[in-house]
Amino acid sequence: MELHELDQLGDEIAELSAHIEAATAHLLDLIREFDARGGWNSGFRSCAAWLSWRVGLDLGAARERVRVARALGTLPRLAQALARGELSYAKVRALTRVATPETEERLLAVGRAGTADHVERIVRGWRRVDRIAEARETARRHASRALHVYQDEDGMVVLRGRLAPEVGALLVQALAAARERLYQQARANDAGPSPADVSAETPPADVSEGTPTLAQQQADALALLAETALHSGIDPGAPGERYQVVVHVEGPVLADPEAPGQSVLEDGAHVPAETSQRLACDASRVVMRHVPEGHVVEVGARTRTIPPALRRALHHRDRGCRFPGCGLPFGQGHHLRHWAQGGPTTLSNLALLCRRHHRAVHEEGYQVERQPDGELRFRRPDGQFLPEVPPPAAVPADPVQALRARHEAQGLRLHARTAIPGWLGEPLNVGWAIDVLHPLAR
Ligand SMILES: [Zn+2]
Ligand SMILES: [Zn+2]
Repeated sequence: MELHELDQLGDEIAELSAHIEAATAHLLDLIREFDARGGWNSGFRSCAAWLSWRVGLDLGAARERVRVARALGTLPRLAQALARGELSYAKVRALTRVATPETEERLLAVGRAGTADHVERIVRGWRRVDRIAEARETARRHASRALHVYQDEDGMVVLRGRLAPEVGALLVQALAAARERLYQQARANDAGPSPADVSAETPPADVSEGTPTLAQQQADALALLAETALHSGIDPGAPGERYQVVVHVEGPVLADPEAPGQSVLEDGAHVPAETSQRLACDASRVVMRHVPEGHVVEVGARTRTIPPALRRALHHRDRGCRFPGCGLPFGQGHHLRHWAQGGPTTLSNLALLCRRHHRAVHEEGYQVERQPDGELRFRRPDGQFLPEVPPPAAVPADPVQALRARHEAQGLRLHARTAIPGWLGEPLNVGWAIDVLHPLAR
């Protein structure tokens, strides 16, 4: 009698689990759409961060949901099996780590036939084969890197090479920067199309004179790169110096973006006053006094806006970015009232914000203020209050019954045996299974 009752209890667990898997499939569909349409892009750094904030998942689990949701977008068979309650989320999660549209069918069969443990072991073996194939491919590509430099009959030097993607990107970026430097002056004088707009496919408009072609500009840019590298003793510099940005901004502009005055980068490019305010909010600064004609008459010592002891206290108090749902463990000290507007550099006027959210409050219209009780209050650009913890979602009085009713209305008939694997108890030979299933296995 008791055994019968326990069987019933077990069936109920299996049936409700199938309902939950089917509901999870629907949830992942919603997450995929929300992610693709950028619904989280309202101050959150990612869809996972938003999920974590809104539904209380830990960040790792939230990232995994988003990853699986995205993967299922191109794996319709696995998505349907989850939606029909036939495969558990755990199995789908494992299978989406390796499945591609080409291998989906075979992996779905693995999911149907095996237990969650089988699936996990096969996926692990599968990844090993993937990794070995990938490592082989990477090693092959790396070995094929080359730069040939030789002299042509007419004395010109010819270059031909193959670079690793990241090295190639570095070169392209450096060439673009050098080209920009060489030709910005020419462009300023010329109202014609900017060199950056000329695609590599465009045939040379005028080879003999006038505007140089992109290929000619690249050649000049490479020469500038070589000169610059030799001039600096081929020293890439410390990371902090490599990306140093210098902003020249007039005092009144820092205090009030509407104030007339300049806010420019070293090379003369204009930056929005809001950006200057953010960069100055937590930075080293050198105060220079200019006479009206522009000459510098006095240079103050370089000072940190926030002294080290205060910064340590700030990190200790805030622990991470204070923006709702963020919590990134490192960041910049934001002056709630900017020091240029007379805001003091004190703990109560500072809040730790990550780079992303520091930008949000300076340049994207998000607001933050400290309440009389010491708590921070964030608002969206539309003035809406952005709570630290969102209000709970409305849940029907009997959520399980509501779930069953919805699935029934969809024509889904779920029962205790919906997700039973086809496995009959025989031992699993992972190596053999991978050899048979994986397209790249020998
Ligand atoms: Zn700031
Ligand atoms: Zn943040």
